[in-house]
Parts: sequence; C-alpha cells; structure tokens
Amino acid sequence: MEISLTHRLSYKQASLTVLVAFILGTVLSIIQVGIDYVSEDASIDREIQALLDTSYNPASRIAYNLDAELAQELVVGLLRSPAVIDASIIAADRSTMAEASRPARVSQYRFISDYLFGARRQFERVLMIDRAPEENLGSLRIEVDTYAFGSNFLRRSMLTITTGFARTLLLSLILLVLFYFMLTKPLIEVVRSLSSRSLHKPNTAPLPCPPGHEHDEIGRLVGVVNHQLTSIDDEIKQRKNAEQRLNQSLQELETAVAQRTAELKATNTRLLNSNHELEHAQQQALQSAHTRATFLANMSHEIRTPLNGLLGMLSLALDAPSSSEQQQQLSIAHHSGKVLVDLLNDILDLSKFESGQLQLEHIAFDLKALVEDTASLLSQNAGPGVELTCLIDPQLPADVVGDPTRVGQVISNLISNALKFTRFGRVDVRVKPVEHGIEFTVRDTGIGITEAAYERIFEPFTQADAGITRQYGGTGLGLALSRHLCESMQGQLNVQSKLGFGSEFTAFLPLKSSAPPAQLEPLNGTVIGLTPVSSGLNEMLKTLLPHWGLDYQRLDTDASLLGHTPQIVISDCPECLYSTRLNCQAPILLITAYGSFLAPEQATSLAPLDQLARPLSQKVLRRALERHLRIQPTASKDLSTQPEESDYKACVLLVEDNPVNQLVAKGMLTKLGYRVIIANEGEHALKQLSEHPIDLVLMDCNMPIMDGYEASRRIRQSGEYASLPIIALTANALSDERQRCKAAGMSDYLAKPFTREELITALENGLKSRV
Ligand code: ADP
Repeated sequence: MEISLTHRLSYKQASLTVLVAFILGTVLSIIQVGIDYVSEDASIDREIQALLDTSYNPASRIAYNLDAELAQELVVGLLRSPAVIDASIIAADRSTMAEASRPARVSQYRFISDYLFGARRQFERVLMIDRAPEENLGSLRIEVDTYAFGSNFLRRSMLTITTGFARTLLLSLILLVLFYFMLTKPLIEVVRSLSSRSLHKPNTAPLPCPPGHEHDEIGRLVGVVNHQLTSIDDEIKQRKNAEQRLNQSLQELETAVAQRTAELKATNTRLLNSNHELEHAQQQALQSAHTRATFLANMSHEIRTPLNGLLGMLSLALDAPSSSEQQQQLSIAHHSGKVLVDLLNDILDLSKFESGQLQLEHIAFDLKALVEDTASLLSQNAGPGVELTCLIDPQLPADVVGDPTRVGQVISNLISNALKFTRFGRVDVRVKPVEHGIEFTVRDTGIGITEAAYERIFEPFTQADAGITRQYGGTGLGLALSRHLCESMQGQLNVQSKLGFGSEFTAFLPLKSSAPPAQLEPLNGTVIGLTPVSSGLNEMLKTLLPHWGLDYQRLDTDASLLGHTPQIVISDCPECLYSTRLNCQAPILLITAYGSFLAPEQATSLAPLDQLARPLSQKVLRRALERHLRIQPTASKDLSTQPEESDYKACVLLVEDNPVNQLVAKGMLTKLGYRVIIANEGEHALKQLSEHPIDLVLMDCNMPIMDGYEASRRIRQSGEYASLPIIALTANALSDERQRCKAAGMSDYLAKPFTREELITALENGLKSRV
C-alpha cells in the first residue's frame, strides 16, 4: 500500500517544521543584517574619524609651515585608504594647498549600497597647533566613497541569508528522513499488516509491532488494535455461535409450524366435517321445530276442541241454578280452563318465534275498532273501582296496513296486564299517530314496577318479583311475546313505571296509513258531562266532542242541572241519575260497566236514557249522539242496550258438526236472546238458509261432507246473500287461517274456544254491518 509523498505524515511534519524554521531563520537573518547595517554605518564614520585623527597633526604642521610638497604627500597618502576618493588641505585663506582624488568604484550592486549608506560622505577638520590654538591654519577635507564599506556589508548580508537558506534546506532533509523512519515507515508497516488480514479468514496471530516502537505511541496503537482485533474475533465467534443457534431454532420452528399446519389441517377437516354435521343437525332442528310447531298447532286444535266443549258446558252450568258451593267450584274450573287456553296460545306463539315460523300479515284494518273491541272484550276483567278508557286520537287513520291479529295480541296483553295489576283508579289506552307509525300507550294506576325489573319482565317466564304469581297468577309469557311481536313488526315496546304509582307501557309500531281519518259531518248542540274532572270519560269527551263540533261542559257527578239546557247529558254515575232527571228532560247517556247497567224498568223510568258500556267506543258514542241530536230521543233504539221488543234479537244459523260445540254455542246464543237454527255441515247449511230468514251465520270451518270454506263460497256465489254476515268458527290457530276464511267470503273470525264477550262483540259487529 503506497502513500504519495505529499500525503505522507513525515512529509507533512517535515514541511511544517521547515516552514516554521525558514520563517524563523529569515527573521533572524534580517535582524542580523539590520544589526550589521547599523554597525557598518557607524564604522564608516569611526574609521574616517580615526583617519582624520591620525592625519590631523601632520596636516596642522604642514599647514602651519605652508609646506605644499608635504601637503601633497599627505593627501596622496590619505588616498591609500580604500574608501577615500578625494583628500585636500585648504589654507587659511581658502586656497587649496594640496589635493588628490580618484574615481569612485563602479559596481552593479552599488545602488543598494548608495541607498543604504548614501553615495559619499564628506569630513572636514579645522587645522591648528597647540601653541597657537586661536590661529586658524585652514582645514583638512576628506570625501569618502561609502561603497568601499557597503560592498563588504552586502557580501556579508548575502552570506548570512544564503547560509540561512542552506541550513533550512538541510534541516528539512534531515527531518524528512528522520520522520520517515520514525513515523511513516512503522505506520505503513502497521497499515500493511492490518490490511493484509481478512475478516473472513480467522487469524489469531497478533499484529506485529515495528521494532523499536514497543513503548511509544505506535506500540500503543498496535496494542490497542490487537486488543480490538481480539474483541472482534471473540464477537465474531459469539455471533457465529448465535447464528448457528438461530438456524437451529429456525429449523425447529419450521418443523413445529409444519406439525401445527398438519394439525390445523386435520382440525380444519374435522371442523368442516362437524360443520356439515352441524348444518345437517340445524336442518334437522329446523325441520323438527317446524314439525313441532305444526304438531303444536294441531295439538292446540285438538286440545281446543274438547276445551271449547268443556268451557262452554261450564259456562252453561254456571248460568244454571245451582248451590253457591257448586257455583264456586264451577267458576274455578271455568277460570282454570280459560287460563289453560291462554297458556296454550302463548306457548304456541312462542314456539312459532323459536322455529322462525311467525308470518306476518299485511292487510288494511280498522285500528280504532281493533283497539276498542279488544278493550271492550277485556273490560270484564276490570275491577269495580277501575275505569278503562280508550283515548284514541281523532286524527288516527281510518285504516292502517299491518297484521291485525298480532297488533291485537300486543294491545290485549298490555290491557289485560294493566287491568290485572290495578285495583283502583284508571287504565287508559291511548293511540295516536306519530312520525313513521303509531304509538300505543297503556297507562295504569296499579302496583307499578321497580326500575330494576324493567328488562327482566320482558324475559319469558319471568315476573317482576316472586310474589306476583302467588298474588296475581300469570305465566310471565305475555310481555316476552308482546316484545317479540313488536320487534318482528319493526317496532318496539318499552316501560316506564313507579312502584306503587302505576306503569306506562308504550309500543311503537311502524304501521302505514292506508285511509285518512273519516271526515264526519259536524254536529251541533251542547253536551253536559256529569263526571269527575279526573275521570277518563271527561278526558275523552273533552277531546272528542269539540272535535265533532259540540259544546262540551263538565259538571260534577251530582251537580244540579237547573238553569242548564243541554241537548244531551252524559253521566257515569247510575245512582245519581234520579236526581239528575228531576231538573232535566234532555236525553241521558249513561256510560258504565256492563255489570252496573240499570235494570230495564229503572231505565224506562229514567227515559230517554241510553246505557253504553265502558270502555266507550267512539263509534257507539257518535251513533248515540247523532240519534239524539237528529231524531227524536224517544225513537232511539240500540241493539246492545235496549231491552228486547220482540222475542229474538236476530236469527242465527249455527253450522257446526260437533254436537258438544253445537250445544255450547246454542246455549250461549239463546241466552243472549238469539233464535238459533242448526246445520250439521255445509250442504245442510245451504238448505237451512233457503228455508229460514237468517240474519247471521256462525260457520265452523272443518266439517265433513262440505266444510265451512266451501259452504261460504257457495253462499256468496249465489248472489242472494251478499251482505249476510258469516262468522268463521275455527280452532285452527295458525296465522293464515284468517286469510283463508276471508278468501272464502267470510266476514269475521272467531277462534274457538270463544268467550261470551267475544261472541257478543262478533255478533254485534256482524249485525251492525248488515244494517
Ligand atoms: P304475566 O302477567 O303472565 O305474569 P307478563 O309477561 O305479561 O306475564 O308480565 C310479566 C311481569 O311484568 C308480571 O308478572 C308483572 O310482574 C309485571 N307487569 C306487567 N305488566 C304490569 C303492570 N301493568 N303493572 C305492574 N306490573 C306489571
């Protein structure tokens, strides 16, 4: 490895030293030359003065003696001094006694000397003798050429500077050689042996130290490098070891990964297999759920039919005279049967949810009628101190699209809960249109629910607290089902409650309007309501009557009507009516529970009087108001409330193959004041229809020979009985049953086993639609 001369350390050091020595030498030489110059300058004057001193006495005697010859000799003698170029002795009278001169030396360097010392210098000394010191004898004059001195000075200076340069040069050479041998050469050796080492070939031999440098900086450097090399070697060894270990671990890892991959593959295959099995099992489960649901539906049909008979017979037996003990036993049996039917329905619905079989209908239906009918049906469960009111917003659409059965089920659950858990006060059912749907609120003043139980009560078979079942009965299924139903209709069901103060259940269902609210003709007149300010009736009248164009005024229940001339009085206090009648001739509408209706003779004595059942439906109220406001009050007649004028209310054709069911239905109908004609199957029904003046048909669906669907189709096809109400009687609880009945031409639907109230409502609705 060669390093160019100018880059060598020795060269750099030598040139630096030489430069410093050169500058220093030059400065010293200049100082020396300067000193020499000053001393030379002074020596010129000194030497000439000395010459003058030696020549002074002879010159003075020569001048005193006026000896021209001697004078001439003296001046010539003075010229022998190399510097003197002109010498003369001047007499006292200023005449020249003797003079000698010669030309100045010529040289190319004299200009330097002339510059430094001046070209010539003149010296003059006055001559005298000791005996006559006052006498001026003349003067001795000498002119000196300074070059005689300057040339010497120049020579010396040249020598000084030249030797200085030569010294410096010599010193540089010596230093260069010294530095080379002391620094550059050993360093180059170290570098050479360092660069000859290969990192890849392990070389444990230490780097050799150049001889003679063991203890100086180079020796140290080699020591440190050797130490570093040893460390690097160690490090490399360690790294190699680590690399080997790493490779080994990598190999182990690869083996483990390969093993795991194989295991995973095996697991995957197992999983795939079990997935297949699961899918298979799921399909089987779905199938069995479907089978179970069908089985449950069929079972419920099978169980309902005997239950229908059982309940019917029990209610007939209850109506027949019997001992109070028997009555109690029968009513317990009847109640248990009803609970069994409810339970059956709930379990059936729940199983449908679980098997995903719940199918929702999308048909237009009258929501107001549905809510009012449901409330009316359940009103029999209301305690005597509980006022059940339907507060339906007049802006509610006439028809909405949805599943009336399911909506009815939710409302029915909420109302029956409210009635069950309320002993005194009010149960209000509110329905109003809101953005994107309808909001149902059932508020009661019952026992309330703790906040902690809010979510729990929506779980199946769960109640707010353990004592509930003991005190109020129930299965804990109603709310779970209702919430499921709301959610499957894209709605929601929530609760707000305060323990001891009542509860408010709010259901939102996104039911679309399919017909705007009916435009009713405005009525005219003043109506006075005799009812407490806090009653549900007051709240209903306050909203509805002004909406229908009537003036509404509320007075306390027992207030006197003296001075008031209302067109109609509405009261909810049967006992107060006699005192009311004293001062008022206007027709009275008594709104009270079925059970509190006045006896026919009492009602006649208070005429004109209409008794309307609570919860008051808007339709019934409107009809009663219209009747009294337009037609003479005495001419009024209401199917549901007026005492019988003829033997039968109407003639009902009961088409039913099961003799027990025939007996039950016939018993109920007769008790309700209907004439009953029986047909055992469809064909028989058609025959009976042609022979009797039938007002309404109760049609069982499943019958031998000709079933109810076919019979209904035939009745409608004949064209003769287009407006004849046909109410389907079926124990089949599946959801498409209603659709099927409608398609066959039937106008309503009654699920077996039906209660007396359900039957009354269905009959009334059917007969009203016919009118
Ligand atoms: P059930 O009424 O058959 O017990 P639900 O699912 O209808 O079952 O109700 C569950 C529970 O929620 C009831 O047991 C009762 O504790 C509570 N609950 C429901 N509605 C009301 C209400 N209106 N007032 C007080 N508690 C209620």
